[in-house]
Order: sequence, then structure tokens, then C-alpha cells
Amino acid sequence: MATSSGSSTATGSLSSLREFNRLRIVDFLRTNGTASRAEVARRTGLSRSTVSTLVADLQRRGLVVERDGEFAGEGQPGRPAALLELDPSAAAAVGVDFDHDKVRVAVSDLSRSVLAEGSAPHDVDHDAQGALDLAAELVESVLAETDLERDRLLGTGIALAGPIDHDIGALHPSDVLPSWSGVDVAKEMETRLQTPTYVDNDANLGALAEVTLGAGRNARFAAYVSISSGIGAGIIVDGRPYRGHRGTAGEIGHFVVDPQGPICRCGNRGCLETLASGPALLRLVQASRDEELTVKQMIELAREGDAGCRRAIADAGQVVGAVVAGLVNLFSPEMVVIGGDLGEAGDLLLDPLREAVRRDALPAAAAELKVVAGELGERANLLGALALVLMQSEHEVAARVAGSAAA
Ligand SMILES: [Zn+2]
Repeated sequence: MATSSGSSTATGSLSSLREFNRLRIVDFLRTNGTASRAEVARRTGLSRSTVSTLVADLQRRGLVVERDGEFAGEGQPGRPAALLELDPSAAAAVGVDFDHDKVRVAVSDLSRSVLAEGSAPHDVDHDAQGALDLAAELVESVLAETDLERDRLLGTGIALAGPIDHDIGALHPSDVLPSWSGVDVAKEMETRLQTPTYVDNDANLGALAEVTLGAGRNARFAAYVSISSGIGAGIIVDGRPYRGHRGTAGEIGHFVVDPQGPICRCGNRGCLETLASGPALLRLVQASRDEELTVKQMIELAREGDAGCRRAIADAGQVVGAVVAGLVNLFSPEMVVIGGDLGEAGDLLLDPLREAVRRDALPAAAAELKVVAGELGERANLLGALALVLMQSEHEVAARVAGSAAA
């Protein structure tokens, strides 16, 4: 924002200041989806009367519309406030989530409404090329369900279950997903779909989705911790995923919490993942029962009062909480969102997790911290892949929105 204001003062004219402020409103709606006029004023720092004038301006030009039948602050006293959004039909995004055993795809418009989505089972971990082909087929079939013209597509966002080398748009080589080693995922999808393609780690995208649409909506500084077959964190700094120098930021699953603990898939010992992931918990509870359990069944049994399952989940919450406390001391988030398969356990997991954070984190950092369950469930990574496209194409969006006004 500071750099843009330089250009407006360079010309010094009132009209360029208006143009700059209009763009701020467009940019706010692009990143937030919908908002009332009052919320736009509060979050952009513009006065209410300026926002009213500029929104009227944007409505006349066809860039901003009032959302049909939806209002902010319903049930509160006073007249309900209309929700504004960008004209959703101006552009669209494609999202792809390569989960371990499944490929999910979706198409959304500019307001982040999902227009169509689909999925199919696949052994993603062991067959990169097959998974890429399947994703392209699924995207074509969901696109066919919408009446979108191809030139409306801003690009494709992709969620991958591992740390990404952003220099080459591929996973860092590892023993974890050997079939994906060296595969230039961005380029492979670009070739198949003929759209610009953006790749990110699944936890980063889960984080982006939860702060855009879910439990952390509008949080500027947040951590999203996904506990499934692995454990990863997405770190949101000033509204955007923080990737670090090599794209490996947030790999909290490989924090060593017990140097004498079990050997991890990364080769180290006693990583958080070896103690608190879904498979680690199943190994614990399995020892005392004959039938094979899934994580879902374990959570169900815990809810029904099974002492062993409750203890396994509570201990996992406690050990994850200790690592989250370190994260809280490190970058002082306003919110921590817990997702993934084990996140479904709710307070059985979250209460001991919160207790450990309260105990281990600096009181000043933890005082106003909210630790909450994710709201987007297994669709979080997919919705994050869609949000990534909108985030990466901000200039493109501004140009298209401006173009549709000129037309
Ligand atoms: Zn490890």
C-alpha cells in the first residue's frame, strides 16, 4: 500500500487519489470475498462517506455488486447492511488437491463460490504422472459442468503434500514421495490445462483457506496445524502464507520432541509425527484390541467414553500443544486453527492442547490467543488452492475488473 500511495502523490491529482482508493476497495473485496460498506471502511481506513461514494462509483461501472438476499449483521438491531462483492463472473479459478489417496478438483468464481467440484480415488503418493492425468481429466469434466468460457480462467492452484521448492515448482526430493521427485508439477499441469499454474504445500493452503473462508476469517497472523497421516503447519503472516527461504517453513511434524522416540519416516528420531499423527495414535490403541481401527472410529470410540482412545487423543493434544507453544513464542499469531483428520476430535484434542499452550507459551503471547477447530474439514486444501490463484493474480483481477467496466 505504501508504494502505491507514492504514485498517487506523484501526480498529485484528486482523480488519481480516487482511483487509488477505488483500487483499495477492489483489492479488499478480492481478498475478503464479501463485506458490508461499514466493514470496508473499517478495514481500509477510508471514511464511511468516501466508501459510500466510491462504492456507488464502482457499482455504476459494474465492478461491484450487492449480493442477493444476504446481509451483514442479521438479527442485530437496525437496518441490515448489504454485502458487497466483486462481479463474480469477471474471472474464475481452478483448484487441485493431490491428497495421498485421492485427487480433488474445483472451479470457483471471483467471489470464491465453488461452481463445481469433483474427486476420484487414486494412489497419488506412488503414481505422480497418473495423478496429474487424472487431475486434468477431472478439471475438464467440472469445467464442462459450468458454462464458463475458457478465457475467464485466471489459473490453476495446486496443493501438494510436502515441502515445495518454489524455484522449480516441484516437491523437494525426499524418500516420502519418491514418484513425485523431480516432477515439475506446475509445468506438467500448465501443459495439460493451458493455464498459469501455482503450486504450494497443502498445510500452507489449508491455512490460507481457513483465514480466507473458515475459522480464522480475516486473521492477519495465524497458524494452521493439520494433524492427519502427517503433521504440518501453515503460517500466515500479514494475510499471506509464509514459506521461508527454501519453502520448508511450518514443518512442525519433524520437531524432535523425544530424542529416544521411534524412528521417523524422515530418518530422525522422536519427531512430533511419530507421537501424535493419526497412524501413531492408531498403533497405540491397536495394541489392546483385536479389530483394525480407523482414525474416524477411534474418535467415535473416544466420544462414547473409551478410556484408551480418549487418553491417546488427549496425550496427542498435549504434545502438539507444547510444539504450538514454541510457534506462538516465535511469531505471535492471533489464532491457531487445528485441522486434519484428528482435528475432528474437537475438544477431546483441543482442551489438552490449549492447556499445554497456556502452560508453555509466554503469557504475553498466549494471553489473547484463540485455539480453535478448523471449519473447512477435508476441503480446506482444495479451497486454499483456489484462494492461491486469486492471491497470485491480483494484477490480472484488477485488469479484468477494469476491462469488464470498459466493455
Ligand atoms: Zn521426522
